Amino acid sequence: MTTTFDQLASRILDGTPATADDALAVLRAPDDALLDVVAAAGRLRRRHFGNTVKVNYLVNLKSGLCPENCNYCSQALGSTADILKYKWLDTDEALAQAAAGLRGGATRVCMVSSGRGPTNKDVDRVADMVGAIKAENPQVEICACLGLLKDGQAERLRDAGVDAYNHNINTAESHHDTIVQTHTYADRVDTVTKVKAAGLSPCSGLIAGLGETDEQLVEALFALKALESDSIPVNFLMPFDGTPYENTWELSPTRCLKILAMARFVCPDKEIRIAGGREMHLRSLQALALNVANSIFLGDYLTSEGQAAEADLEMIRDNGFVVLGAETEPGPDGANSQHTPTARRRGAGTAALPNA
Ligand code: SF4
Repeated sequence: MTTTFDQLASRILDGTPATADDALAVLRAPDDALLDVVAAAGRLRRRHFGNTVKVNYLVNLKSGLCPENCNYCSQALGSTADILKYKWLDTDEALAQAAAGLRGGATRVCMVSSGRGPTNKDVDRVADMVGAIKAENPQVEICACLGLLKDGQAERLRDAGVDAYNHNINTAESHHDTIVQTHTYADRVDTVTKVKAAGLSPCSGLIAGLGETDEQLVEALFALKALESDSIPVNFLMPFDGTPYENTWELSPTRCLKILAMARFVCPDKEIRIAGGREMHLRSLQALALNVANSIFLGDYLTSEGQAAEADLEMIRDNGFVVLGAETEPGPDGANSQHTPTARRRGAGTAALPNA
């Protein structure tokens, strides 16, 4: 007898992990089974995260001017994408942007810089910023995303108060060398491993729509599971003009939803974050996707505009979810049992990143 998606969810809830074949079945579900997929993945989401949505806010510390050649990236060497390019923000500007995100309802601030990896001086600069943010907002979670790390840098960031470190594996090992040639998949895994060893929370995810096969998407998800990534940002390729992927449009809203659901089935208790490309690719299915994913970025992304922060918060409220940490504390296992509306938001929509 064929296993239904609901039976698959029950099996996972009973302690039997999803297999690669299960993940493929989710990815390849017919569109007329989409609501069954969402309902089943939603059971896993609610078990571990209740009705909460974690809201993250990006501060782009340094933009463009990168020597790496990640083919999907508007900031890469050789990209002619029309983006803002600047060297490090000063500490006051970084603090002002972080504060705007926190006023908008974010509980995690992601401090991101372009480049292959930081120098020790860069790490010191970010450490100072983190100290200043934490002094004013001790409850805030800070995730740094500065590229490939050298020995000792993860520990330095941890000691400065950084909670998590983002470094995406982006795609399957078997597909990696077709999307970038200036560093290897092993380089990326090495940084995620260093982060975990230093006691930081690993945040590592992927980009869908890079010409990968279904099997390679599954391969990437199982790699993230093996790396014990605590948060998994799922990006959907935004094909920027001026990059090698400028004409690559492989994704549909239902496909994106199935990718998120697949991530939930494979990593049921991990933070699944809808990241770049949410508005462009999920479009009117964004709200439905909150039943599968439990985390979003508020407002803008690194070099593109997201939908206005207030619209994001309204979408969360309208669909019966609450912003994690806004008005209620999460219950055991991250769940929030109270359905407290998240209206009365302060200052949402005022945050603006210097993104083109
Ligand atoms: S993804 Fe990061 S390392 Fe790669 S080109 Fe863009 S900024 Fe540089």
